[in-house]
Amino acid sequence: MAYATINPYTNEVVKEYSNATTGEIQDALEKGNSLFKQMEKEPPIQRAAQLHDIADRFRKNRDQLAKAMVTDMGKLYREAQGEAELCALIADYFADHGADLLAPTKIETVATGDAQIQKHPLGILMMVEPWNFPMYQIMRVFAPNFMVGNPMILKHASNTPGSAVAFEDIIKASSAPDASLQNLFLSYDQVSEIIADSRVQGVALTGSERGGRSVAKAAGENLKKNTMELGGTDAFVVLDDADIESVANIAWRARLYNAGQVCTSSKRFIVAANVYDQFLAKLKENFANAKPGDPMDSQTTLAPMNSKRAKEKLQAQVDEAIAKGATLYYGNEKIDLPGQFFQPTILTDIHKDNPAYAEEMFGPVAQVYKVNSEQEAIDLANDSDLGLGGIVFSGDPKRGTKVASQIETGMVFVNNFMTSLPDLPFGGVKNSGYGREMSNLGLNAFVNEQLIVTA
Ligand code: NAP
Repeated sequence: MAYATINPYTNEVVKEYSNATTGEIQDALEKGNSLFKQMEKEPPIQRAAQLHDIADRFRKNRDQLAKAMVTDMGKLYREAQGEAELCALIADYFADHGADLLAPTKIETVATGDAQIQKHPLGILMMVEPWNFPMYQIMRVFAPNFMVGNPMILKHASNTPGSAVAFEDIIKASSAPDASLQNLFLSYDQVSEIIADSRVQGVALTGSERGGRSVAKAAGENLKKNTMELGGTDAFVVLDDADIESVANIAWRARLYNAGQVCTSSKRFIVAANVYDQFLAKLKENFANAKPGDPMDSQTTLAPMNSKRAKEKLQAQVDEAIAKGATLYYGNEKIDLPGQFFQPTILTDIHKDNPAYAEEMFGPVAQVYKVNSEQEAIDLANDSDLGLGGIVFSGDPKRGTKVASQIETGMVFVNNFMTSLPDLPFGGVKNSGYGREMSNLGLNAFVNEQLIVTA
């Protein structure tokens, strides 16, 4: 069966799930559409208490939700607990601010009469989500669109069905209508059929460039509005005046958090020549301290990767990078545990003709580059087809911000770890996709901004 929870720490097949039938899909579309017809008549404020109730349930059930995530894809238990809490924070934020942000706005115009923009829901959204943050990714779309009044159908990743069910169960148990979010175990063809249905008016995907291209194609063919949150090869730029102690403390976490399986993980460390050797030595020391083990154990600091397939893909990328001239500075040794562990690895001397230069490595592998000037750092950071996020470190925050503004990505943090919060927009440029999730921008992604002019 395509959908299955296979615990990547124990390799145990925990549970398999059957694909949705045509009848179940039609039923979900019908229920979603009747809910849309009801929600479009109600003001968003009516849904605020229901969304707060959902937030409370994420807090109360935090540990059980966290266990579902750990079992599905192996992340560290404390990181999974943090993810459930972040879901509650996102739900509370949109419950508190959604109605105000969706209020009608007046337009000053030379036209006769009063002009205003009213914001209405569009209809059912098809949501396609990845396994790496199996609940936060859903909440990023769910919370704002619930306030807008768009019911959602979820197709989750085939390796995180337990998280999909647990999320849907929270909605069902809450005071929100059941059809606010309906999880279906869908094939790719079924996703395309749903996108083509006239009751569906939007598509939100988070995932790889490959998945994004296929789903965006189906959305485009059917003229459905869509947002694409895709991959990244984020740069971590260390300028020549950076304080290496604080940089080092953040660098390893920026790469190893969630076993390196984060779209905005720092994947390319671009380091000024005067601090390069010191940076590499510190990164190696911190990578060597990572402790693989049971993700439920609080002593473990390195989680297994999410699946055997993901580990094999990363291994093939590292092997090829080395075969094509990269230097293995640290790591790439087998970890003697049954789970899908990958030793934190550092590669240097990656040149433009090495496939690794352009690839996203979705796991605990750092590429480190030496540069001789600020401009060289910026040019190297921008020499990528992807443009999601990035980090810049400088002893002078103004200089850091100036450099950040020259990096061609959707998000850059200066002198800090990248974080995702509900009031900050999330999204990229170039092949990292388009549209934004979270914040006012995400709230307005699937809204009919209707002009009404009253003479
Ligand atoms: P993926 O293969 O694209 O999978 C993501 C989701 O899309 C899964 O539910 C997958 O289903 C589905 N999917 C893929 N192709 C599809 C198709 N043709 N039709 C319908 N659904 C399709 O991505 P992944 O490799 O597992 O996830 C990691 C990628 O996501 C990385 O590139 C990472 O950077 C990116 N990501 C981006 C963000 C962001 O916010 N920008 C956040 C997290 C991750 P199956 O599981 O059934 O294949």
